[in-house]
Amino acid sequence: MTVSRREFLVISGVAGAGLALSSLGIDMGPVKAYAQELKKIDKMKSAKQSTTICPYCAVGCGLICSTDTKAKKIINIEGDPDHPINEGALCAKGASLFQTTSNNPDRLKKVLYRAPGSDKWQEKSWEWALGEIAKRVKATRDGNFIEKNAKGETVNRVEAIAHIGSAALDNEELWPLQAMMRALGLVYIEHQARI
Ligand code: SF4
Repeated sequence: MTVSRREFLVISGVAGAGLALSSLGIDMGPVKAYAQELKKIDKMKSAKQSTTICPYCAVGCGLICSTDTKAKKIINIEGDPDHPINEGALCAKGASLFQTTSNNPDRLKKVLYRAPGSDKWQEKSWEWALGEIAKRVKATRDGNFIEKNAKGETVNRVEAIAHIGSAALDNEELWPLQAMMRALGLVYIEHQARI
């Protein structure tokens, strides 16, 4: 690790002040966090930076994602100052995006299923989950399909299932999704950005 004169002075200052203050019983949390931040900045110098878009809402803020290519790990995500929409700023949701990466030990990586009435989660495969969703959608649609309304007019609709889309979907994804939901007969189709 190469340390510039300025970084050396900052680190020495932080460490020296830290020792003196901790011996007086003063909380060293913020000083440690600052030292960690310096380490992170040093790591980021060799990281690969890629630009991307926040997936959470339709504002579409720009992000810079830094990847440690040796460890194959994302080490930082922050607002892109060159992006015309957010100019580097992020809301609280966007600012917490790093928590969605595989570095987070609390992130769910497997399908968990809780059977009706049960208080336990069971691990399941994606094949099982997708098959189960398809089976239940079909059963609910078949059991609730309305061919005609009270006036005897043909409506061919299903009111027992609703669909909610994500603002992160683009036009090309939304078109087949909308066609599929309409083909099933759904009328309650909503979008996260309107809620
Ligand atoms: S950072 Fe916030 S405002 Fe920007 S796209 Fe993400 S969720 Fe939306």
